[in-house]
Amino acid sequence: MRVANIRGRLSIVEGALAIDVATASGGAFSSEPAEVFARWEEFTTWAANRDRSEDPEPATYDDTDLGAPSPAARQVFGIGLNYADHAAESGLPIPEQPVVFTKFASSVTGPVTDVALPGATVDWEAELVVVIGRGGRGIPVEDAAEHVAGYTVGQDLSERTVQWQGQPAQFSIGKSFAGFAPTGPVIATLDEFADPDRLRISAAITGDDGARTTVQDGFTDQLIFGVPEIISRLSQVVELLPGDLIFTGTPPGVGAGMKPPRFLIDGDVLLTEIEGIGQLRQRFVG
Ligand code: ZN
Repeated sequence: MRVANIRGRLSIVEGALAIDVATASGGAFSSEPAEVFARWEEFTTWAANRDRSEDPEPATYDDTDLGAPSPAARQVFGIGLNYADHAAESGLPIPEQPVVFTKFASSVTGPVTDVALPGATVDWEAELVVVIGRGGRGIPVEDAAEHVAGYTVGQDLSERTVQWQGQPAQFSIGKSFAGFAPTGPVIATLDEFADPDRLRISAAITGDDGARTTVQDGFTDQLIFGVPEIISRLSQVVELLPGDLIFTGTPPGVGAGMKPPRFLIDGDVLLTEIEGIGQLRQRFVG
């Protein structure tokens, strides 16, 4: 199943059409997308078994109608250096423990946005994002999948100068400017994928001249700490809450690793895609 926030309402997406959940369920489920995660198992069971003849007329929508699929996440985790080749291009060793930071929740947006550039060293990081359904503490690796509502696409936009300011550097601030955590376009449940552990993930930039350059192109099976491991380790310390987001790390190909470095400039359009989920589109202004 594919679930989206369309014009602020919880919707099931089928192809190019959307079914409004509050209407289809006769009000059993709220129209508010943020409220579904605490009832995720009940929701997916209802959605799979509902009498589809009772569905309202499916509606068309535009990608600018899409909001963040989890629009009120209370915790947004980022995992750093979680692909070996990206650690290498960053000049850092492969971590023995997950490198964890936060993107403050006010940076979360939907999938199609304009982003004001707050500095001259704003970089891209295409990422698989885990959306938490059932929360919990002390989750064993083997039970972690039961806590996943689904996957979405995320961009871990990062102002590198701010990210690396100070000693020791605190990643979170440089990754939390307005609009620095675009997510969407949908949450895909894990049964949507032939192999949810191996998804193609890519990013491309279209410049003012219209030329499109692919900058990142990898597979999520290269994660050093996989999704179950991340969930288990985070939950040994932090209580995971319904609707939380976990940005799982980025494959190689970020701008800071290029020679010379290439950062986002006014007029760039960044496309971020994961197969089977969809695409984000950010236009940069500044
Ligand atoms: Zn990242």
